[in-house]
Amino acid sequence: MNHRPVDNSAAIPDPRQELVRVMYSQMPVVAAGNLALSMANILAYIERLPLTGLALFGAAVLVLTTMRIAAFGYYRLSRFRSWDAASHSRLLAFFSFLNGILWSSWGLFVVSSVPHADTLIMLVIQAGICAGTVSTSSASRVSLALFVVPVLTSLALWEGWQGTVDGNILAAVMLLYLVLILSSSQRIYRTLHGSIVLAHKNRLLADELYLHSNTDGLTGIANRRFFDNALQVACEASHQNGKSLSVMLVDVDFFKLYNDSKGHLEGDECLKIIASRLQTFFSSEEWFVARYGGEEFVVVLPGVDESRAYALAEEFRIEIANSRIPHDLALPWHHLTVSIGVASCLPRTEVFPQRLLEAADRALYTAKHSGRNRVNLASDMASMINGFALADLDLSAQL
Ligand code: GH3
Ligand code: MG
Ligand code: MG
Repeated sequence: MNHRPVDNSAAIPDPRQELVRVMYSQMPVVAAGNLALSMANILAYIERLPLTGLALFGAAVLVLTTMRIAAFGYYRLSRFRSWDAASHSRLLAFFSFLNGILWSSWGLFVVSSVPHADTLIMLVIQAGICAGTVSTSSASRVSLALFVVPVLTSLALWEGWQGTVDGNILAAVMLLYLVLILSSSQRIYRTLHGSIVLAHKNRLLADELYLHSNTDGLTGIANRRFFDNALQVACEASHQNGKSLSVMLVDVDFFKLYNDSKGHLEGDECLKIIASRLQTFFSSEEWFVARYGGEEFVVVLPGVDESRAYALAEEFRIEIANSRIPHDLALPWHHLTVSIGVASCLPRTEVFPQRLLEAADRALYTAKHSGRNRVNLASDMASMINGFALADLDLSAQL
């Protein structure tokens, strides 16, 4: 659980990282497809081509597939997820380029070794591979181009170089096909990029909305909404893990008079100071501070028992008093002070958030009526646990 509304926007990945993730997610399909197609090619030409050429092609495919699978594995294990998107893109583009060189060399090897009639199968296979690449590699236009351009242009050049009418037509068809593939992948890339950027913006907006709806506009600390949810979670957690839980209500003394004498704006500045002091003082990861309303703040201290909570509250009260923030109408001190009500629940006791708050509120009320600028502990745990009216009786006795 987050103990304060956290701005997560920095943790949202860059859209380019997302494109890289898409490329990596296609890596097993690309590797398996390459392996299967190369095996099919080898089997198709096994009787018509020298064994050394076939073995070389097979070995090269295996090496490249292993490299790709290793890169994919490393990426999944997050070994190099910290790399920036540009470095990943370069690595992926390098693999595509190697693959392009591999398949164009194979294509040239086949068309130069078998009778022309047998090369048509090869052209169809290569065209099919390039079409498949559009669906797997459009997230990176460079990677895609580094594969399809060498594969298709090498074969088109070969056909054109034959000097026959058929060859020229085939070369022109292949170049046209290349243009179609590049433009279709461009469209897919734009759609993909657009949806990633949109999702990115939505996440940023959702994060901003969460932060705004849980932050107090004046002081910048957590607000009542955040507090209500977080206290509920803290109570449940304390019941489950058997740790103490304390709550403090901190109220600025004579704040109405402060406003009256110095003006509302000055009053606002004062609330900001108290909020920031609280935030700094209770800065432990587990604890949190919120504006409860008006000039009242609340501090939730999981893992803190009654005596420690009292000591912390007292230390904070003294810190504010020692700050000597001038407040002429706050008698007898003539400076700003706070009163604090503290309530704690025993470990392994089921506590209802509302009861804990009520107990802290009663303790605060007593602190106010005992002269202000003081800390008061909730006197009765039973009242917090089951709402029994003992604390009310205590309170009426104290007044
Ligand atoms: P006590 O010592 O008993 O707490 O007296 P108090 O004057 O602090 O308490 P009271 O409840 O009478 O007055 C609280 C004042 O806090 C009244 C209200 O104008 C002021 N206040 C509440 N919210 C804000 C705010 O956001 N900004 C400013 N400047 N004042 C606020
Ligand atoms: Mg007050
Ligand atoms: Mg008040």
